[in-house]
Amino acid sequence: MSNIWWIRRDLRLGDQPTLHAATAAGPVVALYVLDPVLLRAAAPRRREFLLACLRSLDADLRRLGGQLTVRTGRPATVLREVLAQTGAQSIFAEEDFTPYARRRDASVAQVCDLRLIQGQCLQPPGAVLKTDGTPYVVYTPYARAWRQRLPSPVSALPVPKNIQFLEGVASEPIPAAGQPSGFLAGEAEAGGRLRQFLQHRIFDYGKRRDRMDLDGTSGLSPYVRFGVLSMRTLVAAALRAQAEAAGTAAQNSAETWLGELIWREFYIQILYHFPHVARAPFRAGFAGIQWNTQESEFQRWKNGETGVPIVDAGMRQLRETGWMHNRARMITASYLVKDLLINWQWGERWFMDNLIDGDPGANNGGWQWTAGTGTDAAPYFRIFNPVLQGKRFDPDGSYVRQWVPELAGLPAKSIHAPWEGGLVVPGYPQQPLVDHKSAIRRTRLAYEAAKDGSATKGL
Ligand code: FAD
Repeated sequence: MSNIWWIRRDLRLGDQPTLHAATAAGPVVALYVLDPVLLRAAAPRRREFLLACLRSLDADLRRLGGQLTVRTGRPATVLREVLAQTGAQSIFAEEDFTPYARRRDASVAQVCDLRLIQGQCLQPPGAVLKTDGTPYVVYTPYARAWRQRLPSPVSALPVPKNIQFLEGVASEPIPAAGQPSGFLAGEAEAGGRLRQFLQHRIFDYGKRRDRMDLDGTSGLSPYVRFGVLSMRTLVAAALRAQAEAAGTAAQNSAETWLGELIWREFYIQILYHFPHVARAPFRAGFAGIQWNTQESEFQRWKNGETGVPIVDAGMRQLRETGWMHNRARMITASYLVKDLLINWQWGERWFMDNLIDGDPGANNGGWQWTAGTGTDAAPYFRIFNPVLQGKRFDPDGSYVRQWVPELAGLPAKSIHAPWEGGLVVPGYPQQPLVDHKSAIRRTRLAYEAAKDGSATKGL
């Protein structure tokens, strides 16, 4: 009996349990459904990256004697059509946990035999729970329990041998599109990046990961987002690096990187168990914050024209490349929420509209963490000082010089706060959009009013 391998966020052949399950039962049709709902919601660069990865997967499948079948439409409708056209029996798909994916799969399961296979997470939502059976809402105990439950050994599956493909299944052409220059598509590229990271950078990760001016992180997030690399492959790599590390610092670095992978699974399970976070703060007490709704200030943040160099550098990196360094994400997000008092949900949306790696769980988690409204929230009164952050994590100012060329001529000592020395830089704001000290006073008051309910009582 033939089956459909319905590919979604698992654009790979390596460590592909869904493909193994589908091929074990007979010939397969490798199908990708271009879902207009998801395509409309995707940032332009994320869409380009996806389409380029589909082209690459198609080429990989052709080398194995198959091809990728692409169809556009509502998944339930398309899948029924392909089942009818091919006589295939069941649909095998890697389980996806976002609220939209769960609704979509429930509607498909009503009309087709849908088999969901684990692969997106090493330990999917529900696998790591507290002893009373409830989900963890704090990262550190979650991560501890996650590590304790790790299967041993963690080993990735090889590409299945002799896959039988069902022939003659018509496909639409994969829509033509460019591809983001910083992130070439495909599994070979992703594997090469991982190998490079594992050679040296993982062992310095602990020291260098926060430095925005250095290439200290893996740069793998778009590939992880679309499952071009599996979580099991990454975790196996992290564990291997830990075992092979020369010295405690190198070992701790690999361990820190593993911790970042666990953050990803933490936020996936938060969104799964508490789907309201997609629309509201995790902590209901913060729902009543009286936000600043000035569009012009939001616009200046989006454009990287706040007059705070490190914030502007991050926002311009995002606009120009579709990616932003993690430390810059925290600084720019904190600036929007804590300095400008603009609703974190506006920022969350803007990131999703621009990030190649834009992911509902990680992005929501990152924003709620920064806003102090989330699960494992930094207390809301902990506020980043963007100038100090810049001095510490971009000490020579090279990151700012790269993304804010107006400031390229400034020396390191004044580049993070040119206004302090009275410097006038043509084309760059002479003063920051807001004064940090008074802005954070306003924010504390707004948060406190929301917490004690006075904001909603209109006091
Ligand atoms: P590395 O440091 O090499 O980490 C390896 C992998 O671990 C990443 O590729 C990613 O898959 C995962 N990871 C790392 N940090 C986190 C984290 N804090 N939360 C969840 N997963 C993590 N990450 C996204 O993948 N998509 C998003 O939409 C996203 N939005 C964010 C928004 C905000 C406000 C913040 C503060 C963080 C956000 N992150 C997001 C997390 C993090 O910034 C990126 O995963 C990281 O910068 C990707 O770079 P890298 O691949 O070099 O990461």
